[in-house]
Amino acid sequence: MELKSPKTRRVAFYTVGCRLNQAETAILTDQFCRLGFKPVKFGETTDVLVVNTCSVTEGAETDCRRVVRQVLRKSPHAFVAVTGCYAQTGAETLQSIDGIDLVLGTQYKMQLPEYLAALSSYDKKARPDLLHTRKIDHENFTIDGTGDYSTTRANLKLQDGCQFMCSFCLIPFARGRERSRQADDAVREAHALAERGHRELVLTGVNLGQYHDAGVDLLTLLQRLEVVSGIERIRISSIEPTTIPDQLLDYMTTSDKLCRFLHVPLQSGDDTILKAMNRRYTVREYAQFIEKAAQKIPDLCIGTDVMVGFPGEGEQEFANTEILINDLPFSYLHVFSFSSRPGTAATKLANPVPHHIIKQRSQDLAKLSQRKRFVFYQQYVGQKVSVLFEAKNSSGMWTGLTDHYVKVGVQSFDDLSNEIRTVTISGVTDGLAIGHLCENIPASFDHTRSSPFMMTS
Ligand code: SF4
Repeated sequence: MELKSPKTRRVAFYTVGCRLNQAETAILTDQFCRLGFKPVKFGETTDVLVVNTCSVTEGAETDCRRVVRQVLRKSPHAFVAVTGCYAQTGAETLQSIDGIDLVLGTQYKMQLPEYLAALSSYDKKARPDLLHTRKIDHENFTIDGTGDYSTTRANLKLQDGCQFMCSFCLIPFARGRERSRQADDAVREAHALAERGHRELVLTGVNLGQYHDAGVDLLTLLQRLEVVSGIERIRISSIEPTTIPDQLLDYMTTSDKLCRFLHVPLQSGDDTILKAMNRRYTVREYAQFIEKAAQKIPDLCIGTDVMVGFPGEGEQEFANTEILINDLPFSYLHVFSFSSRPGTAATKLANPVPHHIIKQRSQDLAKLSQRKRFVFYQQYVGQKVSVLFEAKNSSGMWTGLTDHYVKVGVQSFDDLSNEIRTVTISGVTDGLAIGHLCENIPASFDHTRSSPFMMTS
């Protein structure tokens, strides 16, 4: 393929999986831009395609084949680079997929733009080049650049890797050992994101509660991020229950910016299953933590991850999970079906759960999640809440989130994107709290923390 000048070389991205992958794609986008590439939307004609994969669930390989085929139909000469967790754990399989030119393991992921900029030829390869090591560095790190987000809220990557070794999880193999981003560098990117107009930061990492850099823990870093001018909300994305100290909960009650939101993975409500999963708590310990958090922070939004169909999960074990979820003040659930990941300890466990039962349990919990969300949203009807608006939905309503993660929709002729406005909630429908804008409430309302809801006038 004829080599274009970097100014005319287009790059498209396809990202699968978690918020951390999204954060990394945003950083890669920024790096590509600074090297002179022109980002284009996925689906448009491109010179380079970057696929940022996930290996957590089944289907990574099929998904990758589909995406590569789809892009090559429109851009037959596009140079295809595949990175991400599946490029680390399934590199050999990826090398056999037609159309891929480069496979980059975790160690080299963030060097992709530089590597491509230095290439002398973008000719399609008969077999992809492979940049991959089994060993992944685990020193604390910095990130070159500032995430390029088209969204209102910006992710801020603080941590990578995990060594908790839950028996179902491939992440310790895909991303390596725990490591943290240098605190100064995290604060530097927060300032840069604020300058680009982002008003909410979503802190991301594989195991965020394990954050530690030269004496700075997550709480200390939060205190440093809190004073970044222009950032009005900081949200912790997902955090392991055993890594949240009381001081962090206390801080959530007093901070002007830290959202009253915790996403705390449960996985199962049965002690035998938790033990087989190698989780680090019992049902009782988890429940005590959630009750303590809910009691300290009365309007806290608590979400969780639950896995159904783990080997050995019989009727009783699943019933224990349902009962626990019913009893605890969750606002919503993310439900995952167990899928055996080669290389993990859970693949060797007996008593697999048949697919049709996994499907049924998954549906049951999805319904339970809907009910929990409805009840959580319903308590806001008649109340005034502060909403950071993001975009219009397919029905033409402006939607955004409150700091306690209620998705709110309003009708407005104004452009509300990235605006923080006060809304009176009047009803709840289809996972959306419907309301109307209150016109005369000053912007400083958002910082009223003593009471999350102002009384309706
Ligand atoms: S805590 Fe467990 S589930 Fe989460 S990334 Fe680490 S090993 Fe995986």
